[in-house]
Amino acid sequence: MIGAIEAGGTKMICAVGSSWREVRDAEKFVVPTTTPDETMAKIMDWFVAQHRSTPLAAIGVASFGPIDFSTDSIARATPKEAWRGVSWRDAIRAHLDDIAIGFDTDTNAAGLAEWCWGAAANCRVAVYVTVGTGIGGGLIIEGEPVHGLLHPEFGHMFVPRQRDDRFEGTCPTHGDCLEGLACGLAIRERWSGSDHPFPPEHAAWELESDYLALAMVNIIMIASPQIIVLGGGVMAVEGLLGKVRMKTRDLIGGYIAKDELTSDIDSYLVRPGLNTSSGVVGAFALGARAADVMP
Ligand SMILES: [Zn+2]
Repeated sequence: MIGAIEAGGTKMICAVGSSWREVRDAEKFVVPTTTPDETMAKIMDWFVAQHRSTPLAAIGVASFGPIDFSTDSIARATPKEAWRGVSWRDAIRAHLDDIAIGFDTDTNAAGLAEWCWGAAANCRVAVYVTVGTGIGGGLIIEGEPVHGLLHPEFGHMFVPRQRDDRFEGTCPTHGDCLEGLACGLAIRERWSGSDHPFPPEHAAWELESDYLALAMVNIIMIASPQIIVLGGGVMAVEGLLGKVRMKTRDLIGGYIAKDELTSDIDSYLVRPGLNTSSGVVGAFALGARAADVMP
């Protein structure tokens, strides 16, 4: 059995299973993300009880970032102050000292899950981007989540500000980086006078698709992925993905002469094959790899 933790900024989703399908279909244990002490205590109590009934070989953690691989912790740059420097490895080891631990960003993990069992299967180079409360991305090359200097942080790339957009941006570090201009929080703040949810014809989605298409072009030009999987709550808005596809194709302008970027763009910018389960299934994949029970 493998434990899986999708550690998000607002809630943590926990599950156990012996296969990705079991984890996907399992009843989840969900804990709100409050203080590290309170949140970790609830999570570890639950896993210790699971471990007593059926021993776990590993736990995989797919965490919000940025993260520090040297200590399997949340990096000090995180805007969530209470979580700065909090180590998942230490928290797990304090309760379960005999199991393997897999650790990566939530988006690298989701990308790995999509590569293993979802929309990015059989792609040598695949990208997963989530557009939700924040924006993040994972890059998978030959089945390995990319760890370089640190890990990719697609949400914090810069995109040209669109004409007439005077919104200062929500990123605490950069202001108007991609996340600052286009994450769910930015949409809410920029259009704070409008009633939610915005209808598909609302100007918010035209601007949102402008920024996301610019981001897609940057990703395509730098990483040359064979597929880009787009998840997260914002992407579920009706019509948004269609706009992003059209604008990405127009911005590329035929420069990369591949069907995927012209006639077949609908099969290139795609929704997750695992729907909303990519994160927790990705955590399972990290755990299964740590336990050496997965390709
Ligand atoms: Zn930023």
